[in-house]
Amino acid sequence: MTKIPHRLYLTEDQMPRQWYNLRADMKEQPDPLLNPGTLEPLRTEELYPIFCEALARQEMDGQTRFFDIPEPVREVYKMYRPSPLIRAYNLEKALGTPAKIYYKFEGNNTSGSHKLNSAVAQAYYAKEQGITRLTTETGAGQWGTALAEACSYFGIDLDVFMVKCSYEQKPFRKAVMGVFDARVTPSPSMTTEAGRKILSENPDTTGSLGCAISEAVESAVSTPNSRYVLGSVLNQVLLHQSIIGLESALAMEQLGEYPDVVVGCAGGGSNLGGLIAPFMRDKLTGIRNPRIVAVEPASCPSFTRGKYAYDFCDTGKVTPMARMYTLGSGFIPSANHAGGLRYHGMSPILSKLYHDGYMEAVSYKQTEVFEAAVRFAKLETILPAPESAHAIKGAMDVALQCKETGEEKTILFGLTGTGYFDMTAYESYLNGSMNDHVPTDEELQKGFDSLPDIPQNKNI
Ligand SMILES: *Cc1c(COP(=O)(O)O)cnc(C)c1O
Repeated sequence: MTKIPHRLYLTEDQMPRQWYNLRADMKEQPDPLLNPGTLEPLRTEELYPIFCEALARQEMDGQTRFFDIPEPVREVYKMYRPSPLIRAYNLEKALGTPAKIYYKFEGNNTSGSHKLNSAVAQAYYAKEQGITRLTTETGAGQWGTALAEACSYFGIDLDVFMVKCSYEQKPFRKAVMGVFDARVTPSPSMTTEAGRKILSENPDTTGSLGCAISEAVESAVSTPNSRYVLGSVLNQVLLHQSIIGLESALAMEQLGEYPDVVVGCAGGGSNLGGLIAPFMRDKLTGIRNPRIVAVEPASCPSFTRGKYAYDFCDTGKVTPMARMYTLGSGFIPSANHAGGLRYHGMSPILSKLYHDGYMEAVSYKQTEVFEAAVRFAKLETILPAPESAHAIKGAMDVALQCKETGEEKTILFGLTGTGYFDMTAYESYLNGSMNDHVPTDEELQKGFDSLPDIPQNKNI
């Protein structure tokens, strides 16, 4: 038998020409977005002041199974895609597992993460519509970097509201965004009403994604010819990220493989939703039955300890409400948490699938995640992003279970990016000063108390 290569690259011609919309194959649709004023399901047109029209339509479309990837978007994709599918031979050997471990590596572009896949699409549609400026938020900085690259490529101005603690901890991220001409403002800021309100209530806050979103949305809707874009959570983002899963499925097929277990990290759910898309389709249509595992940090445990409820996507409560697993938009994760994945909510698509039993979720503490990251880096020569390391840890645990049971399972996990801008976190892990913060039930309750008091949330 010929040995499976370490790295499989599809050819440019094999790169998918369409994104896949998982909702089209779901037995039940996620609950609709609500207009926070009327509590009625949102109409597509109501999103037009916030999002570009093409993206608003993608957001609301639960029927169209495939969307053509526009040619200019494919042209950009070709600069860094198809991304490799890698067999983790060294990791398998070190673990002594009979399992086969594959990972899809999305860190091979300047942004260092999968986020460029959606950034390119969103900047393209904005350009098409004649939008001249975009606003967004960024937490760890990967989304801001990816979007800055995409906006610079398509010639669009960009304002990034960056969570304050990241802004201070990661000055180089700001510099990279600067290279691509983005303006970066630490959030909360005094430049928006939402920011001023949050600061007056909580002057020492180190910020959160939810509050940066409020600022970015406000800045977009109050400026002519501006729109807001988001790098995760939304249905449109999962759609664009489906390219990760489609390429993975094709590459595995060429190897004569199919994953028994698919593992991914979950912040807002976009890489996971993209990675699992074709495998979840097989599961929904009864063709195959892979296990799907979401991995999240114990310090921000939306799936494993959150509530399935209607919530705002931001802290300032300016966005539509989505039904999702959430810790409450008022939840702000501990500033000690360096491991990314800090968002209070979760993709409504994944939330619905999880609620209906199609996938599982586990959580890990940050020191065990960094332990896995360091081990992986030494074995596989890629320094993973802390977010990605959650998936590594999850996959390693599945492989270790296989060692106990002797099962030769095939595992696929998503290695979403590289960790070169996270060296402060690595350093604190290495010098032993990193600690694990797991919120108490009382701390979580404060977040749940911020959930909207609406009839739809009566029985949660
Ligand atoms: C943003 C990010 C994540 C988490 O976001 P999702 O939307 O949950 O995929 C994971 N890994 C990396 C490297 C990221 O930049």
